[in-house]
Amino acid sequence: MRYLTLEELEKKYIVGKVEQFDQKNDMYRRSRWQPEVRGLWAKLWEESPPQNKPGYTLKDRALENALWYIENGFAVGNSKEGYGLYSWESGPTDKYHVLPSDLKEKVTDPAEMSRIVKKVARLAGADLVGICQLDRRWLYSHIYDCRTREYKVLEVPPEINYAIAFAVEMDHDLIKTSPTCIGGAGAGLGYSKHAYTAGILAEFIRNLGYKAIPAGNTTGLSVPIAISAGLGELGRHGMLITYEFGPRVRLAKVLTGLPLQPDTPVEFGVTQFCEKCKKCAQHCPAQAIHYGERTDKPLNISNNPGVLKWPIDAEKCLRFWVRNGSTCGNCIRVCPFNKEPGWLHDMVKWGVSDLPWLDSFFVWTDGLFGYDKQLRPEEYWAKMKS
Ligand code: SF4
Ligand code: SF4
Repeated sequence: MRYLTLEELEKKYIVGKVEQFDQKNDMYRRSRWQPEVRGLWAKLWEESPPQNKPGYTLKDRALENALWYIENGFAVGNSKEGYGLYSWESGPTDKYHVLPSDLKEKVTDPAEMSRIVKKVARLAGADLVGICQLDRRWLYSHIYDCRTREYKVLEVPPEINYAIAFAVEMDHDLIKTSPTCIGGAGAGLGYSKHAYTAGILAEFIRNLGYKAIPAGNTTGLSVPIAISAGLGELGRHGMLITYEFGPRVRLAKVLTGLPLQPDTPVEFGVTQFCEKCKKCAQHCPAQAIHYGERTDKPLNISNNPGVLKWPIDAEKCLRFWVRNGSTCGNCIRVCPFNKEPGWLHDMVKWGVSDLPWLDSFFVWTDGLFGYDKQLRPEEYWAKMKS
């Protein structure tokens, strides 16, 4: 594991001018307004009733809907800004849990406050937590409300200058069933957990007398914020790869003006490894993942120029989801960094970090041991019964 200065981080990823991303151009939103892809998101859900097919049955869909319940009922971060658990202000509570608004905790030691904040985040369900100075390039320039179609400039108050990034682990077995509804349940549980965690953490900070904006996929781009906060590196599949869980995490953040101490970005061999490994691209049913070198050239308006990465074709990805009748996480499932804890996997991670000439060998053995194989839905439910 190597620690990077902010200059080194910038050099690693930024090759041109980075404009703030307009949320209207993310794939979910494009399917609301862009004629070529209009209606795809609605079609995925409205035309995908339970089927008599393992992984897509009523029981599978019931599990998926249940595990999405907190996110879909009380946060809706995929559709709206600042609602429910992601509200920018304190939500409804009883009168006994409201403190006078002029109280403010004096922070004399930001390092100590950072330790406390991380502890609270973990108490509330975070598995990994990091802090960075807020880089406003990663905030959305505009936001688009999927429910009301309201489109407006995003204004984050100037006193908000830190981001607390956190990750929640997604269940290994659920994700291993991807691309079925059970796999979608794994994503849903991650979304529900991080909404809950973000809401609690933001409320703690507000009760200390500081502004706090909890955000899942809302407000800004979680992956670059998490990288700046030292949670991991960018993978070929466009997701964060953490040292602990690989890409099998969901990311959220709380933006705040509470004085904190930033963490340091890290590097543990992911970029070089992804240059050798193309498993996510090979196992992508939509062929939406770039096989070539990193580039900052966008494929379409859902990619942000200026950042060196392997661009994802989100249109192809969403079209596959519609054909599939559920979401997909194959790129997470097959990634060699997606492993359960264990000494053997820790040794391999050390090798990837320190012996990059072995990367091709590690990719080959990963396939040899069948780590990329799907857990069949019937096997998943059999394990549930035992
Ligand atoms: S979610 Fe599935 S379809 Fe989309 S990029 Fe990943 S593997 Fe491909
Ligand atoms: S599957 Fe391989 S290429 Fe894709 S993100 Fe994971 S390590 Fe990188």
